[in-house]
Order: sequence, then C-alpha cells, then structure tokens
Amino acid sequence: MISHHSLDIKQNNLLYGPGKRAVLFTQGCGLKCPGCNNQHLWKREEGKPLYTRQITELCADSDIDGITLHGGEPTEQAEELLPAVKEIKDMGKNVILFTGRKVEQLATPAQRELADISDIVKYGPYIEAEQDLYLHFRGSKNQKVCINPKGALKNYEIQDGTNTVLLTVNEDGSITVNGMPDAEMYKLLEEYTQGNS
Ligand code: SF4
Repeated sequence: MISHHSLDIKQNNLLYGPGKRAVLFTQGCGLKCPGCNNQHLWKREEGKPLYTRQITELCADSDIDGITLHGGEPTEQAEELLPAVKEIKDMGKNVILFTGRKVEQLATPAQRELADISDIVKYGPYIEAEQDLYLHFRGSKNQKVCINPKGALKNYEIQDGTNTVLLTVNEDGSITVNGMPDAEMYKLLEEYTQGNS
C-alpha cells in the first residue's frame, strides 16, 4: 500500500512533463529540505492509502501519456511503487520521477530500479540559497535533470527561463496552486483571488 496525498490528471509540460499525465504526489519525505514548499507532505502517516490497481487503472486510459511521480519523496516508497510503474511501462507509457535524493543516495535496489526504469529523473534536494524560479522541473540550481538516452523521452527538451504555475479552481471554489510563483505571479494571484472573493 502506498501513502499518497493526491493522484490526478494534469497537463503542464514545464511542471510535470509532456502530454496529459497522471500526477502522483506521494506522502512522506524524510529529507526535510529547509524552505520546502511541500511540508504538508512530510509525514507519511498523514497520507491516504493507494493501491497499484488504482494507479494502473487511471493510466490505462488511452488519453494518458504517462505518469509523473512527485512528493513527498517517491523513492521512500520505491518498493510499493515499482509494480505500478512496471505495468505502466508495459502499456507503452512514460515515467518521470522527481526525487530529492542525489544518484549516490539511492540506497536500496528498489530505489535504483525506480530511477533506472524512469524516462526522466529530477535529482537532488531543494536548496533555498540556490533557489531559481525559472528552471524547468527544478526549484534550485543544484538540482539535475537526467534524461534516459534510450528511453521514450530521449528527445525531450529542457526549457529554462519561464516561471510556471498551474492554477486549479476546485469544485468548492478554492484554488490550488502548483509550482513556485515569482513576485509578479504572486501579485497576479492576489489580484485574481481578491477579484473572486
Ligand atoms: S525532497 Fe522535496 S518534498 Fe522532500 S523536503 Fe525536499 S523539497 Fe520538500
């Protein structure tokens, strides 16, 4: 059983990857980077249960291009995630993994296999002093993106230089913000929320 925060369909190339994707935010992260934007995802026990079948059924939809594993720290649940990820790869779909670990910190066979099987991996912790809000897939300059040269996304292009935020208006009228807004984007968000209150 996987502990998770959310599993949704999202479409935003610069935040999650190409096409229409299942985006899984796992719950639980022991890395505790100072300044982390996702501190509500640190405690694994606060997550909701998720089963392999729920992930694969969502990804089986022909419209879905692949899955993006976000967190939290997905590699802390590598063993639990691997069966779903392998099945999704067998469907001919791609996998993108966001981990706060560096390559050399992947300690278990399951963690290494999860990274190996992924078509793109974003590696490394968030370091506040190296923050850069204009990087594709990354929040700080120390983080690295590795594209598997033999993978399904081998021709994927990293496009730095844009501050990207995804706004979702929920059924109850509340707004979910994904991404790390810069000052200009914050101002726009404030104006938008005031205009809708
Ligand atoms: S790895 Fe990600 S979720 Fe975990 S503390 Fe660092 S920034 Fe936050």
